[in-house]
Amino acid sequence: MFLTISTSGTPESPATDLGFLLHKHPDNAQAFSTSYGTAHVLYPEASVERCTAALLLEVDPVALVRRGRGKEKGRGGAPDAALAQYVNDRPYAASSLLAVALSAVFSSALRGVCKARPERVGQPLPLRIEVPALPARGGADLVRGLFEPLGWTVDVTPVPLDEQFPEWGDSRYVSLVLDVPDGKLTLSEALRHLYVLLPVLDDAKHYWVSPDEVDKLLRAGEGWLADHPEQQVITSRYLARRWSLTREAMDRLELVRLADADDTDVEEIDNAVDEEADTDEAPVPLAVLRREAILTALTAAGAGRVLDLGCGQGQLVQALLKDARFTEIVGVDVSMRALTIASRRLKLDRMGERQADRVQLFQGSLAYTDKRLKGYDAAVLSEVIEHLDVERLPALEYAVFGSARPRTVLVTTPNVEYNVRWETLPAGHVRHGDHRFEWTREEFRAWARKVAERHGYDVEFVPVGDDDPEVGPPTQLAVFTQADKADKTNKNVENGENDKNAKEVRAA
Ligand code: SAH
Repeated sequence: MFLTISTSGTPESPATDLGFLLHKHPDNAQAFSTSYGTAHVLYPEASVERCTAALLLEVDPVALVRRGRGKEKGRGGAPDAALAQYVNDRPYAASSLLAVALSAVFSSALRGVCKARPERVGQPLPLRIEVPALPARGGADLVRGLFEPLGWTVDVTPVPLDEQFPEWGDSRYVSLVLDVPDGKLTLSEALRHLYVLLPVLDDAKHYWVSPDEVDKLLRAGEGWLADHPEQQVITSRYLARRWSLTREAMDRLELVRLADADDTDVEEIDNAVDEEADTDEAPVPLAVLRREAILTALTAAGAGRVLDLGCGQGQLVQALLKDARFTEIVGVDVSMRALTIASRRLKLDRMGERQADRVQLFQGSLAYTDKRLKGYDAAVLSEVIEHLDVERLPALEYAVFGSARPRTVLVTTPNVEYNVRWETLPAGHVRHGDHRFEWTREEFRAWARKVAERHGYDVEFVPVGDDDPEVGPPTQLAVFTQADKADKTNKNVENGENDKNAKEVRAA
Protein backbone atom coordinates (compact mmCIF):
# COMPACT_ATOMS: atom_id res chain seq x y z
CA MET A 1 0.00 0.00 0.00
CA PHE A 2 1.34 3.38 -0.72
CA LEU A 3 0.73 7.04 -1.34
CA THR A 4 2.74 9.85 -2.84
CA ILE A 5 2.97 13.51 -1.94
CA SER A 6 4.22 15.92 -4.61
CA THR A 7 4.88 19.61 -4.76
CA SER A 8 6.28 22.01 -7.30
CA GLY A 9 8.74 24.84 -6.74
CA THR A 10 10.94 27.62 -8.07
CA PRO A 11 14.62 28.46 -7.51
CA GLU A 12 13.58 30.80 -4.64
CA SER A 13 11.49 28.13 -2.94
CA PRO A 14 12.65 24.80 -4.34
CA ALA A 15 10.33 21.84 -4.40
CA THR A 16 13.01 19.78 -2.62
CA ASP A 17 12.23 21.74 0.56
CA LEU A 18 9.59 19.03 0.89
CA GLY A 19 12.44 16.89 2.19
CA PHE A 20 13.08 19.36 5.02
CA LEU A 21 9.39 19.61 5.83
CA LEU A 22 9.02 15.84 5.95
CA HIS A 23 12.33 15.44 7.81
CA LYS A 24 13.38 12.87 5.22
CA HIS A 25 16.27 13.56 2.86
CA PRO A 26 15.34 13.23 -0.84
CA ASP A 27 18.67 11.51 -1.63
CA ASN A 28 18.08 8.55 0.65
CA ALA A 29 15.63 5.72 0.70
CA GLN A 30 14.80 5.05 4.34
CA ALA A 31 13.02 2.24 6.12
CA PHE A 32 11.29 2.29 9.50
CA SER A 33 9.92 -0.68 11.29
CA THR A 34 6.42 -0.40 12.68
CA SER A 35 4.39 -2.99 14.54
CA TYR A 36 2.61 -3.97 11.33
CA GLY A 37 5.55 -4.16 8.98
CA THR A 38 8.10 -1.88 7.38
CA ALA A 39 7.45 1.66 6.20
CA HIS A 40 9.65 2.95 3.39
CA VAL A 41 10.10 6.57 2.39
CA LEU A 42 11.63 7.28 -0.99
CA TYR A 43 11.63 10.05 -3.57
CA PRO A 44 10.82 8.99 -7.15
CA GLU A 45 11.64 12.54 -8.25
CA ALA A 46 13.45 15.41 -6.54
CA SER A 47 14.27 18.55 -8.48
CA VAL A 48 13.87 22.27 -7.94
CA GLU A 49 10.68 22.23 -10.01
CA ARG A 50 9.09 19.03 -8.74
CA CYS A 51 9.54 16.76 -5.80
CA THR A 52 7.61 13.62 -4.89
CA ALA A 53 7.86 11.64 -1.68
CA ALA A 54 6.38 8.15 -1.55
CA LEU A 55 5.36 6.33 1.58
CA LEU A 56 5.20 2.61 1.08
CA LEU A 57 4.07 0.30 3.83
CA GLU A 58 4.97 -3.34 3.57
CA VAL A 59 2.51 -5.01 5.83
CA ASP A 60 3.52 -8.16 7.64
CA PRO A 61 0.26 -10.14 7.78
CA VAL A 62 1.57 -12.46 10.47
CA ALA A 63 2.53 -9.58 12.73
CA LEU A 64 -0.89 -8.17 12.15
CA VAL A 65 -2.60 -11.38 13.22
CA ARG A 66 -0.37 -11.76 16.29
CA ARG A 67 -1.09 -8.23 17.35
CA GLY A 68 -4.78 -8.72 16.77
CA ARG A 69 -4.84 -11.83 18.96
CA GLY A 70 -3.09 -10.16 21.84
CA LYS A 71 -5.68 -7.40 21.83
CA GLU A 72 -8.58 -9.73 21.38
CA LYS A 73 -7.97 -11.62 24.61
CA GLY A 74 -8.44 -8.74 26.90
CA ARG A 75 -11.74 -7.58 25.60
CA GLY A 76 -13.36 -10.84 24.58
CA GLY A 77 -14.14 -9.51 21.12
CA ALA A 78 -14.74 -11.98 18.32
CA PRO A 79 -11.67 -12.47 16.16
CA ASP A 80 -12.10 -12.12 12.41
CA ALA A 81 -13.37 -15.12 10.48
CA ALA A 82 -10.48 -17.59 10.35
CA LEU A 83 -9.24 -16.87 6.85
CA ALA A 84 -9.89 -13.18 6.90
CA GLN A 85 -7.05 -12.87 9.36
CA TYR A 86 -4.60 -13.97 6.69
CA VAL A 87 -6.32 -13.13 3.44
CA ASN A 88 -7.43 -9.50 3.40
CA ASP A 89 -6.74 -6.19 1.75
CA ARG A 90 -4.44 -4.84 4.42
CA PRO A 91 -1.20 -5.33 2.48
CA TYR A 92 -2.56 -3.64 -0.61
CA ALA A 93 -4.99 -0.89 0.30
CA ALA A 94 -4.34 2.49 1.85
CA SER A 95 -6.22 1.75 5.04
CA SER A 96 -6.01 2.92 8.60
CA LEU A 97 -2.65 1.12 8.82
CA LEU A 98 -1.22 3.57 6.33
CA ALA A 99 -2.57 6.45 8.38
CA VAL A 100 -0.75 5.10 11.42
CA ALA A 101 2.46 4.71 9.43
CA LEU A 102 2.02 8.26 8.14
CA SER A 103 1.78 9.65 11.64
CA ALA A 104 4.73 7.57 12.84
CA VAL A 105 7.08 8.38 9.97
CA PHE A 106 6.06 12.01 9.44
CA SER A 107 5.20 12.93 13.02
CA SER A 108 7.03 16.31 13.04
CA ALA A 109 5.56 17.29 9.68
CA LEU A 110 2.12 16.37 10.93
CA ARG A 111 2.57 18.58 13.95
CA GLY A 112 3.99 21.37 11.77
CA VAL A 113 7.49 21.33 13.25
CA CYS A 114 10.58 21.92 11.12
CA LYS A 115 13.81 23.13 12.67
CA ALA A 116 15.72 23.38 9.37
CA ARG A 117 13.11 25.49 7.53
CA PRO A 118 10.88 26.94 10.27
CA GLU A 119 9.72 29.74 7.97
CA ARG A 120 8.25 27.25 5.49
CA VAL A 121 6.13 25.31 7.99
CA GLY A 122 3.33 27.84 8.07
CA GLN A 123 3.49 28.55 4.33
CA PRO A 124 0.92 26.87 2.13
CA LEU A 125 2.34 25.04 -0.88
CA PRO A 126 0.94 23.48 -4.03
CA LEU A 127 0.30 19.80 -3.34
CA ARG A 128 -0.76 16.67 -5.13
CA ILE A 129 -1.49 13.48 -3.26
CA GLU A 130 -2.05 10.19 -5.02
CA VAL A 131 -3.45 7.06 -3.46
CA PRO A 132 -3.82 4.32 -6.08
CA ALA A 133 -5.82 1.87 -3.97
CA LEU A 134 -8.03 3.36 -1.34
CA PRO A 135 -10.85 1.42 0.30
CA ALA A 136 -13.79 3.83 0.23
CA ARG A 137 -16.93 2.72 1.97
CA GLY A 138 -19.48 5.27 0.88
CA GLY A 139 -18.04 5.47 -2.63
CA ALA A 140 -16.79 8.33 -4.74
CA ASP A 141 -19.46 10.72 -3.46
CA LEU A 142 -18.30 10.40 0.10
CA VAL A 143 -14.67 10.82 -0.95
CA ARG A 144 -15.62 14.12 -2.59
CA GLY A 145 -17.81 15.11 0.36
CA LEU A 146 -14.87 14.62 2.71
CA PHE A 147 -12.07 16.31 0.77
CA GLU A 148 -13.72 19.04 -1.30
CA PRO A 149 -14.85 21.18 1.67
CA LEU A 150 -11.20 21.28 2.74
CA GLY A 151 -10.07 22.92 -0.48
CA TRP A 152 -8.95 19.87 -2.46
CA THR A 153 -9.75 19.22 -6.09
CA VAL A 154 -10.77 15.59 -6.05
CA ASP A 155 -10.28 13.16 -8.90
CA VAL A 156 -11.68 9.82 -7.84
CA THR A 157 -11.93 6.74 -10.09
CA PRO A 158 -13.73 3.62 -8.89
CA VAL A 159 -11.71 0.44 -9.38
CA PRO A 160 -13.75 -2.34 -11.05
CA LEU A 161 -14.17 -5.58 -9.13
CA ASP A 162 -12.63 -7.52 -11.98
CA GLU A 163 -11.47 -5.88 -15.17
CA GLN A 164 -12.38 -8.97 -17.19
CA PHE A 165 -15.94 -8.92 -15.92
CA PRO A 166 -17.09 -5.32 -16.02
CA GLU A 167 -20.68 -6.48 -15.45
CA TRP A 168 -19.68 -7.35 -11.88
CA GLY A 169 -19.50 -3.65 -11.21
CA ASP A 170 -17.09 -1.66 -9.06
CA SER A 171 -15.17 -2.79 -6.02
CA ARG A 172 -15.12 -0.74 -2.87
CA TYR A 173 -11.71 0.61 -3.87
CA VAL A 174 -11.03 3.84 -5.63
CA SER A 175 -7.97 5.46 -7.03
CA LEU A 176 -7.66 8.96 -5.69
CA VAL A 177 -5.79 12.05 -6.80
CA LEU A 178 -6.04 15.16 -4.64
CA ASP A 179 -4.80 18.54 -5.77
CA VAL A 180 -4.57 21.85 -4.07
CA PRO A 181 -3.12 25.01 -5.57
CA ASP A 182 -0.60 27.14 -3.74
CA GLY A 183 -1.95 29.38 -1.04
CA LYS A 184 -4.56 27.06 0.40
CA LEU A 185 -3.03 24.37 2.59
CA THR A 186 0.15 23.75 4.51
CA LEU A 187 1.79 20.34 4.44
CA SER A 188 0.81 19.79 8.06
CA GLU A 189 -2.84 20.43 7.27
CA ALA A 190 -2.72 18.10 4.27
CA LEU A 191 -1.15 15.31 6.32
CA ARG A 192 -3.67 15.77 9.10
CA HIS A 193 -6.52 15.50 6.57
CA LEU A 194 -5.11 12.17 5.40
CA TYR A 195 -4.41 10.93 8.90
CA VAL A 196 -8.07 11.35 9.82
CA LEU A 197 -9.83 10.68 6.52
CA LEU A 198 -8.00 7.51 5.38
CA PRO A 199 -9.35 5.48 8.31
CA VAL A 200 -12.74 7.19 7.94
CA LEU A 201 -12.99 5.91 4.36
CA ASP A 202 -11.65 2.52 5.36
CA ASP A 203 -14.23 2.41 8.16
CA ALA A 204 -12.55 -0.61 9.73
CA LYS A 205 -10.12 0.37 12.43
CA HIS A 206 -7.59 -2.34 13.01
CA TYR A 207 -7.04 -1.48 16.64
CA TRP A 208 -9.19 -1.03 19.68
CA VAL A 209 -10.43 2.52 19.89
CA SER A 210 -9.67 3.89 23.33
CA PRO A 211 -10.82 7.19 24.82
CA ASP A 212 -7.52 8.90 24.00
CA GLU A 213 -8.46 8.54 20.33
CA VAL A 214 -10.77 11.48 20.92
CA ASP A 215 -7.75 13.62 21.82
CA LYS A 216 -5.88 12.39 18.77
CA LEU A 217 -8.81 13.15 16.51
CA LEU A 218 -9.23 16.66 17.88
CA ARG A 219 -5.52 17.38 17.61
CA ALA A 220 -5.40 16.20 14.00
CA GLY A 221 -8.69 17.94 13.26
CA GLU A 222 -7.59 21.30 14.63
CA GLY A 223 -8.59 24.14 12.34
CA TRP A 224 -10.76 22.11 9.98
CA LEU A 225 -12.94 19.50 11.67
CA ALA A 226 -15.12 21.81 13.75
CA ASP A 227 -16.61 23.38 10.63
CA HIS A 228 -16.60 20.34 8.36
CA PRO A 229 -20.07 19.61 6.94
CA GLU A 230 -19.45 15.85 7.30
CA GLN A 231 -18.24 16.22 10.87
CA GLN A 232 -20.61 13.60 12.21
CA VAL A 233 -19.61 10.88 9.71
CA ILE A 234 -15.95 11.65 10.27
CA THR A 235 -16.19 11.59 14.03
CA SER A 236 -18.30 8.49 14.32
CA ARG A 237 -16.33 6.44 11.79
CA TYR A 238 -12.97 7.57 13.10
CA LEU A 239 -14.01 6.50 16.55
CA ALA A 240 -15.21 3.14 15.19
CA ARG A 241 -18.82 4.15 15.82
CA ARG A 242 -18.42 4.15 19.57
CA TRP A 243 -21.28 6.42 20.41
CA SER A 244 -20.05 7.69 23.76
CA LEU A 245 -16.71 8.74 22.25
CA THR A 246 -18.38 10.26 19.22
CA ARG A 247 -20.64 12.28 21.46
CA GLU A 248 -17.71 13.48 23.52
CA ALA A 249 -15.79 14.47 20.38
CA MET A 250 -18.74 16.31 18.85
CA ASP A 251 -19.33 18.12 22.10
CA ARG A 252 -15.73 19.21 22.32
CA LEU A 253 -15.79 20.34 18.71
CA GLU A 254 -18.82 22.41 19.58
CA LEU A 255 -16.77 24.04 22.33
CA VAL A 256 -14.09 24.88 19.79
CA ARG A 257 -16.62 26.33 17.43
CA LEU A 258 -18.28 28.38 20.12
CA ALA A 259 -14.97 29.62 21.42
CA ASP A 260 -14.23 30.85 17.90
CA ALA A 261 -17.68 32.39 17.57
CA ASP A 262 -17.18 33.99 20.96
CA ASP A 263 -14.54 36.35 19.69
CA THR A 264 -17.05 38.01 17.41
CA ASP A 265 -19.63 37.96 20.19
CA VAL A 266 -17.62 40.20 22.45
CA GLU A 267 -16.92 42.73 19.77
CA GLU A 268 -20.42 42.71 18.41
CA ILE A 269 -21.97 43.18 21.81
CA ASP A 270 -19.55 45.95 22.76
CA ASN A 271 -20.03 47.75 19.45
CA ALA A 272 -23.78 47.48 19.72
CA VAL A 273 -23.72 48.96 23.20
CA ASP A 274 -21.40 51.80 22.12
CA GLU A 275 -23.52 52.63 19.10
CA GLU A 276 -26.65 52.79 21.21
CA ALA A 277 -24.95 54.99 23.78
CA ASP A 278 -23.68 57.42 21.14
CA THR A 279 -27.00 58.62 19.84
CA ASP A 280 -28.72 61.47 21.68
CA GLU A 281 -32.12 59.98 22.23
CA ALA A 282 -30.77 56.49 22.52
CA PRO A 283 -33.59 54.00 22.48
CA VAL A 284 -33.29 51.49 25.29
CA PRO A 285 -31.19 48.63 23.89
CA LEU A 286 -33.10 45.47 23.24
CA ALA A 287 -30.80 43.53 25.56
CA VAL A 288 -31.89 45.80 28.42
CA LEU A 289 -35.58 45.43 27.56
CA ARG A 290 -35.08 41.67 27.50
CA ARG A 291 -33.50 41.63 30.94
CA GLU A 292 -36.31 43.78 32.32
CA ALA A 293 -38.94 41.44 30.88
CA ILE A 294 -37.12 38.46 32.38
CA LEU A 295 -36.83 40.09 35.82
CA THR A 296 -40.53 40.94 35.74
CA ALA A 297 -41.50 37.38 34.81
CA LEU A 298 -39.22 35.87 37.47
CA THR A 299 -40.63 38.16 40.13
CA ALA A 300 -44.19 37.35 39.06
CA ALA A 301 -43.38 33.65 39.39
CA GLY A 302 -42.01 34.24 42.90
CA ALA A 303 -38.72 32.61 41.95
CA GLY A 304 -35.84 32.85 44.43
CA ARG A 305 -33.40 30.22 43.17
CA VAL A 306 -32.68 30.85 39.52
CA LEU A 307 -30.63 29.19 36.78
CA ASP A 308 -29.33 31.31 33.91
CA LEU A 309 -28.68 28.69 31.25
CA GLY A 310 -26.36 29.89 28.49
CA CYS A 311 -25.53 32.87 30.72
CA GLY A 312 -22.92 34.18 28.27
CA GLN A 313 -20.95 37.02 29.80
CA GLY A 314 -23.09 37.30 32.89
CA GLN A 315 -25.17 40.46 32.35
CA LEU A 316 -28.36 38.84 33.64
CA VAL A 317 -26.58 37.22 36.58
CA GLN A 318 -25.31 40.68 37.49
CA ALA A 319 -28.80 42.15 37.33
CA LEU A 320 -30.24 39.32 39.41
CA LEU A 321 -27.59 39.84 42.08
CA LYS A 322 -28.81 43.41 42.60
CA ASP A 323 -32.21 42.14 43.72
CA ALA A 324 -32.24 40.45 47.12
CA ARG A 325 -35.32 38.41 46.23
CA PHE A 326 -33.06 36.21 44.18
CA THR A 327 -31.36 34.19 46.85
CA GLU A 328 -29.42 31.78 44.68
CA ILE A 329 -28.22 32.47 41.13
CA VAL A 330 -26.43 29.95 38.97
CA GLY A 331 -24.94 30.86 35.59
CA VAL A 332 -24.17 27.97 33.25
CA ASP A 333 -22.51 28.16 29.86
CA VAL A 334 -20.70 25.83 27.53
CA SER A 335 -18.09 28.47 26.72
CA MET A 336 -15.23 28.80 29.18
CA ARG A 337 -14.32 32.10 27.61
CA ALA A 338 -17.77 33.54 28.26
CA LEU A 339 -17.60 32.30 31.87
CA THR A 340 -14.22 33.93 32.39
CA ILE A 341 -15.58 37.26 31.17
CA ALA A 342 -18.68 36.79 33.35
CA SER A 343 -16.55 36.11 36.38
CA ARG A 344 -14.51 39.26 35.71
CA ARG A 345 -17.67 41.30 35.19
CA LEU A 346 -19.09 40.11 38.50
CA LYS A 347 -15.72 40.54 40.25
CA LEU A 348 -16.29 37.12 41.77
CA ASP A 349 -12.84 37.07 43.35
CA ARG A 350 -13.40 40.33 45.21
CA MET A 351 -17.00 39.77 46.20
CA GLY A 352 -18.06 39.87 49.85
CA GLU A 353 -18.86 36.51 51.40
CA ARG A 354 -22.60 37.04 51.56
CA GLN A 355 -22.86 37.99 47.90
CA ALA A 356 -20.50 35.22 46.89
CA ASP A 357 -22.74 32.71 48.65
CA ARG A 358 -25.59 33.66 46.35
CA VAL A 359 -23.85 33.15 43.05
CA GLN A 360 -22.16 30.33 41.17
CA LEU A 361 -20.88 29.94 37.62
CA PHE A 362 -20.08 26.64 36.01
CA GLN A 363 -19.45 25.10 32.65
CA GLY A 364 -22.00 22.71 31.23
CA SER A 365 -23.75 21.85 28.02
CA LEU A 366 -27.51 22.07 27.75
CA ALA A 367 -27.48 19.23 25.29
CA TYR A 368 -26.98 16.79 28.19
CA THR A 369 -28.86 16.13 31.39
CA ASP A 370 -27.04 17.44 34.42
CA LYS A 371 -27.87 16.61 38.05
CA ARG A 372 -26.55 19.98 39.18
CA LEU A 373 -29.47 21.69 37.47
CA LYS A 374 -32.23 19.93 39.43
CA GLY A 375 -34.43 21.55 42.05
CA TYR A 376 -34.47 25.24 41.05
CA ASP A 377 -37.47 27.56 41.04
CA ALA A 378 -36.78 28.93 37.60
CA ALA A 379 -34.49 28.63 34.60
CA VAL A 380 -33.84 31.33 32.02
CA LEU A 381 -32.69 30.58 28.48
CA SER A 382 -32.16 34.03 27.07
CA GLU A 383 -31.19 34.03 23.38
CA VAL A 384 -29.73 30.54 23.65
CA ILE A 385 -31.85 28.04 21.72
CA GLU A 386 -31.04 29.61 18.35
CA HIS A 387 -27.36 28.85 18.98
CA LEU A 388 -28.02 25.12 18.86
CA ASP A 389 -28.63 23.11 15.72
CA VAL A 390 -32.32 22.34 15.38
CA GLU A 391 -31.52 18.61 15.64
CA ARG A 392 -30.06 19.20 19.10
CA LEU A 393 -33.13 20.97 20.47
CA PRO A 394 -34.84 17.74 21.59
CA ALA A 395 -31.76 17.03 23.73
CA LEU A 396 -31.93 20.53 25.27
CA GLU A 397 -35.67 20.12 25.74
CA TYR A 398 -35.16 16.89 27.64
CA ALA A 399 -32.29 18.25 29.72
CA VAL A 400 -34.26 21.33 30.81
CA PHE A 401 -37.92 20.32 30.86
CA GLY A 402 -37.56 16.58 31.39
CA SER A 403 -34.61 16.34 33.77
CA ALA A 404 -33.88 19.67 35.52
CA ARG A 405 -37.61 20.53 35.67
CA PRO A 406 -37.65 23.93 37.34
CA ARG A 407 -41.12 25.24 38.22
CA THR A 408 -40.78 28.11 35.73
CA VAL A 409 -38.80 28.26 32.49
CA LEU A 410 -38.33 31.45 30.48
CA VAL A 411 -37.15 31.14 26.88
CA THR A 412 -36.40 34.11 24.64
CA THR A 413 -35.46 34.01 20.98
CA PRO A 414 -35.46 36.45 18.04
CA ASN A 415 -38.65 36.87 16.02
CA VAL A 416 -37.40 36.54 12.44
CA GLU A 417 -40.43 38.40 11.08
CA TYR A 418 -39.13 41.55 12.74
CA ASN A 419 -35.83 41.40 10.81
CA VAL A 420 -37.31 43.54 8.01
CA ARG A 421 -37.52 46.37 10.52
CA TRP A 422 -33.77 46.39 11.28
CA GLU A 423 -32.32 49.04 9.06
CA THR A 424 -28.82 47.63 9.18
CA LEU A 425 -29.76 44.00 8.52
CA PRO A 426 -29.60 42.94 4.88
CA ALA A 427 -32.70 41.04 3.74
CA GLY A 428 -32.65 37.34 4.46
CA HIS A 429 -29.86 37.58 7.05
CA VAL A 430 -29.99 36.34 10.59
CA ARG A 431 -29.01 38.73 13.35
CA HIS A 432 -25.91 36.94 14.46
CA GLY A 433 -23.40 34.76 12.62
CA ASP A 434 -23.79 31.91 15.07
CA HIS A 435 -27.59 31.72 14.91
CA ARG A 436 -28.53 28.32 13.56
CA PHE A 437 -32.10 29.40 12.94
CA GLU A 438 -34.48 32.25 13.64
CA TRP A 439 -38.16 31.53 14.01
CA THR A 440 -41.39 33.29 13.15
CA ARG A 441 -43.87 33.79 15.97
CA GLU A 442 -45.85 30.81 14.75
CA GLU A 443 -42.81 28.53 14.61
CA PHE A 444 -41.71 29.47 18.11
CA ARG A 445 -45.21 29.04 19.49
CA ALA A 446 -45.68 25.66 17.83
CA TRP A 447 -42.38 24.46 19.31
CA ALA A 448 -43.13 25.85 22.76
CA ARG A 449 -46.63 24.40 22.88
CA LYS A 450 -45.36 20.93 22.00
CA VAL A 451 -42.63 21.16 24.63
CA ALA A 452 -45.17 22.29 27.23
CA GLU A 453 -47.53 19.47 26.36
CA ARG A 454 -44.84 16.79 26.41
CA HIS A 455 -43.49 17.81 29.80
CA GLY A 456 -46.55 18.98 31.68
CA TYR A 457 -46.12 22.75 31.53
CA ASP A 458 -48.46 25.60 30.63
CA VAL A 459 -47.02 28.23 28.35
CA GLU A 460 -47.75 31.90 27.70
CA PHE A 461 -46.12 34.31 25.25
CA VAL A 462 -44.93 37.83 26.03
CA PRO A 463 -43.68 40.34 23.44
CA VAL A 464 -40.38 42.09 24.24
CA GLY A 465 -39.59 45.44 22.60
CA ASP A 466 -41.67 47.41 20.14
CA ASP A 467 -44.65 45.14 19.30
CA ASP A 468 -45.11 45.95 15.62
CA PRO A 469 -48.72 45.47 14.45
CA GLU A 470 -47.56 43.72 11.32
CA VAL A 471 -44.45 41.75 12.14
CA GLY A 472 -44.64 41.50 15.94
CA PRO A 473 -41.90 42.26 18.51
CA PRO A 474 -38.14 41.87 17.95
CA THR A 475 -37.83 39.35 20.77
CA GLN A 476 -40.33 36.70 21.76
CA LEU A 477 -40.50 35.39 25.31
CA ALA A 478 -42.23 32.16 26.35
CA VAL A 479 -43.10 31.68 30.02
CA PHE A 480 -43.51 28.01 30.94
CA THR A 481 -45.04 27.07 34.28
CA GLN A 482 -45.30 23.51 35.54
CA ALA A 483 -48.92 22.56 35.06
CA ASP A 484 -49.46 20.93 38.45
CA LYS A 485 -47.75 23.85 40.19
CA ALA A 486 -49.83 26.26 38.16
CA ASP A 487 -52.93 24.37 39.23
CA LYS A 488 -51.86 24.68 42.84
CA THR A 489 -51.35 28.40 42.49
CA ASN A 490 -54.71 28.68 40.82
CA LYS A 491 -56.26 26.57 43.53
CA ASN A 492 -54.73 28.81 46.17
CA VAL A 493 -56.21 31.76 44.41
CA GLU A 494 -59.49 29.98 44.13
CA ASN A 495 -59.35 28.92 47.76
CA GLY A 496 -58.52 32.45 48.71
CA GLU A 497 -61.50 33.67 46.83
CA ASN A 498 -63.65 30.98 48.29
CA ASP A 499 -62.48 32.03 51.74
CA LYS A 500 -63.25 35.59 50.90
CA ASN A 501 -66.62 34.59 49.57
CA ALA A 502 -67.17 32.50 52.66
CA LYS A 503 -66.28 35.47 54.82
CA GLU A 504 -68.57 37.66 52.83
CA VAL A 505 -71.30 35.12 53.16
CA ARG A 506 -70.66 34.96 56.87
CA ALA A 507 -70.56 38.72 57.09
CA ALA A 508 -73.80 38.86 55.25
N1 SAH B 1 -27.99 34.51 27.74
C1 SAH B 1 -27.07 35.51 27.27
C2 SAH B 1 -26.12 35.01 26.18
C3 SAH B 1 -26.78 34.62 24.89
S1 SAH B 1 -25.58 34.12 23.68
C4 SAH B 1 -27.82 36.73 26.78
O1 SAH B 1 -29.04 36.72 26.74
O2 SAH B 1 -27.18 37.72 26.47
C5 SAH B 1 -25.80 32.35 23.71
C6 SAH B 1 -25.00 31.67 24.77
O3 SAH B 1 -25.39 30.32 24.79
C7 SAH B 1 -23.50 31.71 24.52
O4 SAH B 1 -22.86 32.20 25.66
C8 SAH B 1 -23.16 30.26 24.27
O5 SAH B 1 -21.89 29.92 24.76
C9 SAH B 1 -24.24 29.52 25.01
N2 SAH B 1 -24.51 28.18 24.50
C10 SAH B 1 -24.66 27.78 23.24
N3 SAH B 1 -24.86 26.46 23.16
C11 SAH B 1 -24.86 26.01 24.43
C12 SAH B 1 -25.01 24.72 25.03
N4 SAH B 1 -25.21 23.63 24.28
N5 SAH B 1 -24.94 24.63 26.37
C13 SAH B 1 -24.74 25.74 27.13
N6 SAH B 1 -24.58 26.95 26.62
C14 SAH B 1 -24.63 27.10 25.29
